[in-house]
Amino acid sequence: MVKSYNSLNEIKSELAIGEITVEKLVKGYLDKIALNAHLNAFNEVFDQEALICAKKVDVRIKQGTAGKLAGMVIAIKDNICYKGHKVSASSKILKDFTSIYSSTVVERILAEDAVIIGRCNCDEFGMGAANENSYFGPVKNYADVTRVSGGSSGGSAVAVQAGMCLAALGTDTGGSVRQPASFCGLIGLKPTYGRISRHGIIAYASSFDQVGPITKSIEDAALLLEVMAGPDEYDGTLANIKVPAYSEHIKPSSTKKIAYIQESLSSPGVDKEIKNTLAAYIDKLRSDGHVVKPIAFEHLDYLVPAYYILAMAEASSNLSRYDGVHYGYRSPSASDLQSTYKRSRSEGFGKEVKRRIMLGAFVLSAGYYDAYYAKAQKVRRLIKDKTEEIFKEYDFILVPTAPEPAFAIGKNEKDPVVTYLSDIFTVQASLTGAPAISLPCGNNNKGLPLGLQLIARHFEEQELLNFSKYFLKL
Ligand code: GLN
Repeated sequence: MVKSYNSLNEIKSELAIGEITVEKLVKGYLDKIALNAHLNAFNEVFDQEALICAKKVDVRIKQGTAGKLAGMVIAIKDNICYKGHKVSASSKILKDFTSIYSSTVVERILAEDAVIIGRCNCDEFGMGAANENSYFGPVKNYADVTRVSGGSSGGSAVAVQAGMCLAALGTDTGGSVRQPASFCGLIGLKPTYGRISRHGIIAYASSFDQVGPITKSIEDAALLLEVMAGPDEYDGTLANIKVPAYSEHIKPSSTKKIAYIQESLSSPGVDKEIKNTLAAYIDKLRSDGHVVKPIAFEHLDYLVPAYYILAMAEASSNLSRYDGVHYGYRSPSASDLQSTYKRSRSEGFGKEVKRRIMLGAFVLSAGYYDAYYAKAQKVRRLIKDKTEEIFKEYDFILVPTAPEPAFAIGKNEKDPVVTYLSDIFTVQASLTGAPAISLPCGNNNKGLPLGLQLIARHFEEQELLNFSKYFLKL
């Protein structure tokens, strides 16, 4: 059985002395995946192919020509295209669809000799925060199998949590990398909007979607970021800003100014142990000489409504391409064009996805557009302006990642609004495009992981990673 590695550096030092090979490593991870099949983290394991790929990497290591990610065994969320492999976004409507090209992120990690071990379960089209909206069923938390993994990149998080791979890629539209990372005791990084290409990512809400790594070490998050980031002719939203070698510049942070949102310590909606953890970190930061101050964020109540109106509007537009004609599922009982559309979509999409398409179409419809969509855009601008104002004075914003730790499977199923509200602390970075990271901060008295989140200025990932490295040692 593969031992539990915490970073690629650990693996690399064992590879260097011949203690292990990448092939042996992959075999070990495949055993772990088989042992943990009940967690439902993978929609498909690329077992044979991963072994072939591992052997090739071993040869390149011997020849001294291996890339930066040699030895990294990684899982990808099932909404990231990988040429010749199925990709479903955990939806029936794409169940047997095969990617005809690879996403830029997949091309870039493969070019640096990562081994992709499989595609991970997620909420259908990334819509959810518990991985309970997957056509393939919920993912179970390794810390307590009666509890959710978080979502939407729940399979990616549990794959890393249970040691079924070293790292995983997720996507984060409103928190889907950060929140499952916090539920599983891991590091989850959402980079600045415009840092990593979305070419070949199945779109949910295009003005928010980002790819991000889920890892056990800051160094691995930094390395994956530097490999994946930077301009790509297939994604026009990318900023032409130089990509630093993040992993080579992780250094101790100087004294910082940190703001925390007052309500996160006072609101009855935030779990007590999370509040205590936040308060304890604030004390530790202060005693280390940092300036840590409470701020009032008067737009707090508008974060979730603005995010959901905009995300649903964009989703209704993005998902109109699944019509039973071009690709994916087509209803066997369809008889003409109208019934092909209607039946394929009715049978192919899950309940939550249908709800969002309908609400999204509603907020965009003539007569309601100004009251909902246009209004939400204005609120987004106010939130962005206010956040920028905070960053004029402070280096980071510190908030919980989620208001509560992993909850019981089925608990919030009946009321989607409860689940929507749990995104309150993650959507600020999504609405503003700022980079944010969820960091593991111990467990509660039931042994469930707790996470805190740091948000930084646009494109200040290096500072965010440096400070995170220090923060984890507090
Ligand atoms: N929970 C949020 C939603 O359902 C975020 C999901 C995500 O980031 N993909 O929209």
